[in-house]
Amino acid sequence: MPLAHDLVLIARIGEISLKGLNRGDFEGRLAANLQRRLKGLGEVRVVRSQSVVRVEPVDPAAFDYEEAIHRATCIFGIVAVNLARSFPVGFPEILAQAEDHVRGILADGRPRTFKVEARRSDKSFPLDSPAICREVGAHLLEAFPGLLTVDVHRPSFVLHVEVRDTVLLYDRVERGHRGLPVGTAGKAMLLLSGGIDSPVAGYMMASRGLEIEAVHFQSIPFTSERALRKVEALAGLLARYAGRVALHVVPFAEIQTMLRDGVPEDMMTICMRRAMMRIAERIAVRRGCRALITGESLGQVASQTMPALATTGAVVSLPVFRPLIGLDKDATIEIARRIGTFETSIQPYEDCCTVFVAKHPKTKPDASATQRLEDRLPLEDAIRRAIDAAEVKTAGWDA
Ligand code: ATP
Ligand code: MG
Repeated sequence: MPLAHDLVLIARIGEISLKGLNRGDFEGRLAANLQRRLKGLGEVRVVRSQSVVRVEPVDPAAFDYEEAIHRATCIFGIVAVNLARSFPVGFPEILAQAEDHVRGILADGRPRTFKVEARRSDKSFPLDSPAICREVGAHLLEAFPGLLTVDVHRPSFVLHVEVRDTVLLYDRVERGHRGLPVGTAGKAMLLLSGGIDSPVAGYMMASRGLEIEAVHFQSIPFTSERALRKVEALAGLLARYAGRVALHVVPFAEIQTMLRDGVPEDMMTICMRRAMMRIAERIAVRRGCRALITGESLGQVASQTMPALATTGAVVSLPVFRPLIGLDKDATIEIARRIGTFETSIQPYEDCCTVFVAKHPKTKPDASATQRLEDRLPLEDAIRRAIDAAEVKTAGWDA
């Protein structure tokens, strides 16, 4: 029977502790995001204290701590999550709890190296941090002879002891995704394809505190219903980090057909991308989004050369965020793997852009020449029809 203590999650706050006057807002948003994200795992109290957020399950026996840790690490603004024992401040209590905790770690009988790290934010506590380390370390060495050795450089575990309003004692440190709490930077509209790049772009901008809505252009009958399911799945994965993601699904086949029949083949992709931007911007404005986000990366394909990006961007006046602009594909793939979107992105369903792709797209298009091509077509009516026919689906925490 382990010694009585509360088992709590401690979320460490990173960058946001730098935010000076806004700090209260940022911490408040982070705590609210965390609370929403943990909903469904059991009732919790979420308490902000001394630049950490503390999560206390009301019924610890019924609480899924592992799932909670996982979810908490995905909340932007959290640098790390600890699973900690919390108990009233006192030196004998620290020794007894440390021994009890380490007994659990050593349960398999294998010897281990360790070190103790202590922090004392309650300066009235009689021992300073080095003294706590020394005393706790000595106590443990004595309690588990033959099983423990001190190694300050590469220990197999670090026992952390923090003396604050309670004592926190833990060895588990799970890294969070850092960034700023979603909702502190406003809202933006992500152009979400079924590819690898755009989900990563959405993740990156959400990590800067943006709330995300997404727009997807689908080309049924040229593309399948399953391609759409894949994009919905990606929006759901993104929502693990970004919270609620409203996904606007826009039928695009009519516009594609019009462009295929009405513009030179080598301008097809650029004109398609411009139509997407126009539509995305109008939906964005209606939904209170102040920027667009794409997964474009300089030079990756013909439609992402500098002149092509300029020609695409020329049709909108909202800022366009392209967080992958300077990343190579491997770096993007690495992020996609880490955030769990890669496996879904590589499912082999066709995207609307791949349906009518030209063999040699123009790499140096020009905005006004492109505009003249488009002016010959009844594009505006088709854009309006597409927007009217758009459907909203919602993925996410409180969807
Ligand atoms: P991705 O992997 O994100 O699809 P990509 O390298 O395949 O990117 P493109 O297909 O040229 O590049 O698309 C560039 C960007 O345009 C995408 O990152 C995305 O933001 C947007 N986009 C492309 N196709 C669609 C679509 N069907 N719906 C919504 N946005 C799209
Ligand atoms: Mg693509």
